[in-house]
Amino acid sequence: MTTYNGKCHCGQTAWAAELPENEHILCHCDTCKQLGGGAYSLNQIIPKKNLKITKGALKTYTYKGDSGKSVNCYYCPNCTTHAYHHQEAMGPDTIVIRTILLDGAKKWKAHAEIFGKDRMDWEKEVATTFEVMPPS
Ligand SMILES: [Zn+2]
Ligand SMILES: [Zn+2]
Repeated sequence: MTTYNGKCHCGQTAWAAELPENEHILCHCDTCKQLGGGAYSLNQIIPKKNLKITKGALKTYTYKGDSGKSVNCYYCPNCTTHAYHHQEAMGPDTIVIRTILLDGAKKWKAHAEIFGKDRMDWEKEVATTFEVMPPS
């Protein structure tokens, strides 16, 4: 386990996340496109206890996920950077952290891709791809 620091664009909020591997899972879903403004998002699923907010306070935006259960997104109230989200479908102790916001993450490898069904036509596959989610 290694602890990585992350911060939002404006610097009003910051956090530290403990991760087992320095790698990304690419999510191609349409919600990530809309919320992030990019072709995909870069994430990792970690235990909630591995994340500490070290500066400021994040706001919450809630929507209904495909499962019909709520998804809570935690973001900086000033610049709207999304730090992490929590899917009720995953249970109370698991969160999805935006790995690209952590220190050094530009050098990390792509470990897997999810929601491959929503991939942009011109995007090449860079890791093992799942049409939606990996089988659990
Ligand atoms: Zn901010
Ligand atoms: Zn997504």
